[in-house]
Amino acid sequence: MSILVYIEHTEGAIKKTSLEAVSYASALGEKEGKEVVAVALGKIEDSALAKAGSAGAKKVLHVADEKLNDGVIQAHASAVGQAFEQSGADTLVLAKSSLGDAVAARLSVKLKAGLASNVVALPEEDGGYKVRRSIYTGKAFTDTVITTDNKILAVKKNAVALKSDGADAAVETLEVALAEGDFAAKITSTDKATDEISLPEADIVVSGGRGLKGPENWNLIEDLAKAMGAATGCSKPVSDSGWRPHHEHVGQTGVKVAPSLYVAVGISGAIQHLAGVNASKYILVINKDPEAPFFKAADYGIVGDAFEILPKLTEALKAIK
Ligand SMILES: Cc1cc2nc3c(=O)[nH]c(=O)nc-3n(C[C@H](O)[C@H](O)[C@H](O)COP(=O)(O)OP(=O)(O)OC[C@H]3O[C@@H](n4cnc5c(N)ncnc54)[C@H](O)[C@@H]3O)c2cc1C
Repeated sequence: MSILVYIEHTEGAIKKTSLEAVSYASALGEKEGKEVVAVALGKIEDSALAKAGSAGAKKVLHVADEKLNDGVIQAHASAVGQAFEQSGADTLVLAKSSLGDAVAARLSVKLKAGLASNVVALPEEDGGYKVRRSIYTGKAFTDTVITTDNKILAVKKNAVALKSDGADAAVETLEVALAEGDFAAKITSTDKATDEISLPEADIVVSGGRGLKGPENWNLIEDLAKAMGAATGCSKPVSDSGWRPHHEHVGQTGVKVAPSLYVAVGISGAIQHLAGVNASKYILVINKDPEAPFFKAADYGIVGDAFEILPKLTEALKAIK
């Protein structure tokens, strides 16, 4: 038996959330003595797919049919379902996403597989196959027992530590039969709303709080973010005041981030904000108040005025690039 991971990719690289799903499957495979095989659909270089090995996949099955590039749900469900059957898997792991949710729901019916979505921990064999899930936008957990032989687990974004020490995976071409009906819904155009780096998937985030005093000063955050190749975030009062859009608000009631580096500027570090950033690898806090609670959660801290520090930091970063 094996575990199949459905991986999504963008701009020629596997999505971070899918690497998290592979990392999750790898830990599950170790626990259950099963091999981890991934499946990817559409146009992507095999060298990019081999990177799934770093997160623990032994093999990647590549269905290279370019008709699958657009993410047509029924076609993806059909291809992943065939990969599941051909690879002899009994568990499908995937990242929770809009495409992943739709594919998982269809395959749950087709494969007669119990589905648990927003999974945050490995299953426990405790009175059945018990899976812990996050609910109410992260405010509570629920345990779900899956009773079917086939299982589908959709892993919550940022809930799993990325494994990165595996060797490159072998990539094999997989042929599947796609029917005309699989493409009954056609995607006719895709327009990117923004070129900015996506906040939940960003490797570096620069976030500003009320200490920035107003939206007119946000260029300081944006300039630093640009110099670092980072996404921008903010605290809740900042988005509530309309200084920044709501989708940038980080925390318990906003986006949960898990970057390698989170830079918090003029943010006090209230517990509700920390709930969204505590999966960050490193935290740098810039605050003029040495007693700001955020310093207790920080790996690095600069006590000082953001209006003096940010331009200097940005210039210094530009100089070393
Ligand atoms: C149910 C509930 C849910 C919530 N959810 C969230 C959430 O998801 N996310 C969230 O962020 N908040 C959330 N909050 C609000 C949270 O409790 C805090 O009020 C909020 O995080 C504070 O935002 P802030 O740090 O930007 O502002 P402040 O608390 O006003 O802090 C501003 C900081 O800037 C510093 N500062 C001021 N001037 C400068 C300067 N010139 N240079 C450097 N530093 C300076 C100050 O020392 C201070 O530490 C929630 C609250 C509730 C009740």
